[in-house]
Amino acid sequence: MLATTPIRDIITAQRQFFATGKTQDIAFRLTQLQNLYQAIKNRENAIYAALKADLNKPDVEAYYEIVVTRDIQAAIKNLKSWVKPQKFPIPLEQFPAQAMMVPEPLGVVLIVGAWNYPFNLIMAPLIGAIAAGNCAIIKPSELSPHTSRLIAEIIGETFDNGYITVVEGGRDISQQLLAEKFDYIFFTGSPRVGKIVMEAAAKHLTPVTLELGGKSPCIVTEDVNIEVAAKRIVWGKFVNAGQTCIAPDYLLVQQGVKSQLLAAIKAAIIEFYGHEPANSPDYGRIVNDGHLQRLQDLLESGEIIVGGDINPDARYIAPTVIDNVSLEAAVMQEEIFGPILPVMTYGDLSEAIDLINRLPKPLALYIFSQNPSHQEQILRQTSSGTACINDTLVHFITPQLPFGGVGNSGMGRYHGKASFDTFCHYKSILKRSFLFDVDLRYPPYRDKLRFLKWLLGG
Ligand code: NAD
Repeated sequence: MLATTPIRDIITAQRQFFATGKTQDIAFRLTQLQNLYQAIKNRENAIYAALKADLNKPDVEAYYEIVVTRDIQAAIKNLKSWVKPQKFPIPLEQFPAQAMMVPEPLGVVLIVGAWNYPFNLIMAPLIGAIAAGNCAIIKPSELSPHTSRLIAEIIGETFDNGYITVVEGGRDISQQLLAEKFDYIFFTGSPRVGKIVMEAAAKHLTPVTLELGGKSPCIVTEDVNIEVAAKRIVWGKFVNAGQTCIAPDYLLVQQGVKSQLLAAIKAAIIEFYGHEPANSPDYGRIVNDGHLQRLQDLLESGEIIVGGDINPDARYIAPTVIDNVSLEAAVMQEEIFGPILPVMTYGDLSEAIDLINRLPKPLALYIFSQNPSHQEQILRQTSSGTACINDTLVHFITPQLPFGGVGNSGMGRYHGKASFDTFCHYKSILKRSFLFDVDLRYPPYRDKLRFLKWLLGG
């Protein structure tokens, strides 16, 4: 479908396609998943190039997006078991009967993506939408234009236009799409736009998944392997130049290990990116000038102890660590979404927990601790979309582990079977027979209550 085709015509074409019943067929879905897998494999080099052009992504980091192919393989492998009806027990008075839940496709769904992992954030939900038997309209982010174009090409070459279509564009196109009625909206982006999406969806009572962001804390207690913790934190924070929805946003380190940890973090930054990260082939760039300016302003929030260099022409900000940051500082008022790591300290674990609970519920929470009771205390006394103990980010690429936010960081979850479930309606069905027709429930009731109580219990 050409981008110039009116949006309503695209939706009408998809509704007609859905009405043919083709997507109900499991063999059809498997073929489409296989075709998508092959298309991604065929265009692998082009995907690296697009991500390099948009975000200066090193190939290794780009590969984390491309490896969504693993999710396609898992969907192909498991689809036949996912579509099976789920059976439920039958109470005595309904015998003989069968009770079950059957997953049915929703219809025409909308998938809107963000720019920071622009390929993965479109493809991962699309796999669920296809597996569950839907038609889909996709709107990639306009801030990663090379990847957006490439996604449009891949989808255009792989699928019938009436089945899956890419609509490219920015806020205006997004709002035109949101004004239409969809059967589901899967949105990845900021909490601010998430509210706009939910408001638009409410007008049609369209259900939504909102994959949003937030300030994901990273707590380090005294008993950890400092060197490994530092490497994992530095990797999770500065991969994609900090533009990761689940990047450790700020560090909460126990006072006794602060100086050791900061020294190890500094050493890890040098080990990964050299003394001049601007020259490293493995370090990304800020997506646009607006974000660069926003991040530059945040550097005023405390004492810069590592990095701080900026080259606006190259949209470069060095991996930066800021010490002596207060909760009131600008850097603690919003999701950073860039290569700046503010550091705060705590004495007792309850202080760290109090601080986390003063901010909106985050998308991820990181605990570096070898003490199971500390891990347990933090998990129980805080709320976050996801949590990862003694590492960063890798829970996102644990293929079968559902991923999603809570509160301000979003609603709904996907990956693995959760993606399939997201794009299904589970229809509850009770199937009875004509074999017995006990007349206890029929009027006239007379003295039937006694028998009914005996039969139903409760
Ligand atoms: P964004 O909310 O600005 O944009 C996301 C999408 O919404 C884009 O496709 C954009 O075109 C569209 N959009 C922008 N303004 C709009 C408006 N007013 N009305 C309708 N549509 C609009 O987000 P972003 O800058 O692309 O991404 C950064 C945010 O996304 C961060 O908060 C980050 O944490 C979050 N994020 C979350 C996840 C996750 O999996 N939960 C993943 C990546 C990014």
